Amino acid sequence: MSGPNPTTEPIGPLRVSDRVRQVPPSGIRRFFELAEEMDDVISLGVGEPDFTAPWRARQAAIESLERGRTSYTANRGTRELREAIAADCRERHGLDYDPHEEVLVTAGASEGIDLAFRALVNPGDTVAVAQPSYVSYVPGVVFAGGEVLPVPTRVEDDFALTPEVLAEAGAEEADALVMCYPNNPTGATLTREQVAAVADFAREHDLAVLADEIYAELTYEGEHASIATQEGMRERTIVFNGFSKAYAMTGLRLGYALGPAEAIGAMNRVHQYTMLSAPTTAQYAALTAIEECGDEVVEMRRQYDRRRKFVLARFAEIGIDCFEATGAFYVFPRCPWDDADAFAEALLEAESVAMVPGKAFGAGGEGHLRVSYATGLDDLREAMNRIERFVA
Ligand code: PMP
Repeated sequence: MSGPNPTTEPIGPLRVSDRVRQVPPSGIRRFFELAEEMDDVISLGVGEPDFTAPWRARQAAIESLERGRTSYTANRGTRELREAIAADCRERHGLDYDPHEEVLVTAGASEGIDLAFRALVNPGDTVAVAQPSYVSYVPGVVFAGGEVLPVPTRVEDDFALTPEVLAEAGAEEADALVMCYPNNPTGATLTREQVAAVADFAREHDLAVLADEIYAELTYEGEHASIATQEGMRERTIVFNGFSKAYAMTGLRLGYALGPAEAIGAMNRVHQYTMLSAPTTAQYAALTAIEECGDEVVEMRRQYDRRRKFVLARFAEIGIDCFEATGAFYVFPRCPWDDADAFAEALLEAESVAMVPGKAFGAGGEGHLRVSYATGLDDLREAMNRIERFVA
């Protein structure tokens, strides 16, 4: 890492704020920097699709530029895109949101999540975070001045969020709950019944719910059940989704948040001063992605599912214990060594295969490894052979 380390003491008048100093640099990044210095590495550490965005979506971006559409859009995003998002969410997930007041187009789901923390969390509020989890939630809460309450899920429950683990962590005292299913890093999904049980807990203890559903379209067994569709949940939930995963559009930086008008309005107040509007070119690409690229999503999902089954079968053959992940593009095997950091580093050095130690994703991830299958089958085959040789 170059430049000052924000976790060390501040130097000079450009003092790093206490909030930023509280947050260590991402554990995932550090690992990748190591891998980048090596040749012939097969990375199973990536958190983004290996596919390219569908051609029609890219073409729509190009056409929008040819037509000179290079201005800001409305703060909340173009009307056409918000209407398309609302219609799409209604059709596929039974989510019913008014495109004018209840949909906010953001620079990736990342921006939406950050806006929710900044617009809806007061200093000192407690935000329960179901873990292991995507690495942005904890820093986001800290930047907003909130207190994080980790809620570790358990491999014995296939990393499902349950009322039991919520109660064990003391989440009934929290103000809000962050949950992400299908889950990064575990690949866990929740059944409709499991979602209903979390919803009961949230209603009973009056929790706001921030539901990161960016992997909703990458659900391989059964259908994704959004918590916002549960009775009494719409008014206390913000749903985040976007184009990065399902449409392989990470670099276009486009996502959206859905929620009640007042909360979305508050988030838009932060957004209009910090972002103005999400990237215009990407909004045109996204509109076409929704309207014309459904087949590509189905095809990418089919390929991820094939890879998922392959990786799970290979781990079973090798004798590495791995629960049946059913969503996103990750599996989360138990590490065959006690020290998962040491295992990941040794595997990288000996066999040039990169995976991320599970504890980078918080409580409950210890002793596990995140393995991404957003990599072609040929590389996956070779990587699994190398892992087999390494553990033999
Ligand atoms: N949420 C989760 C769970 C993710 O895995 C990611 C990307 N790795 C994001 C949000 C960020 O998505 P976006 O590119 O839309 O900001």
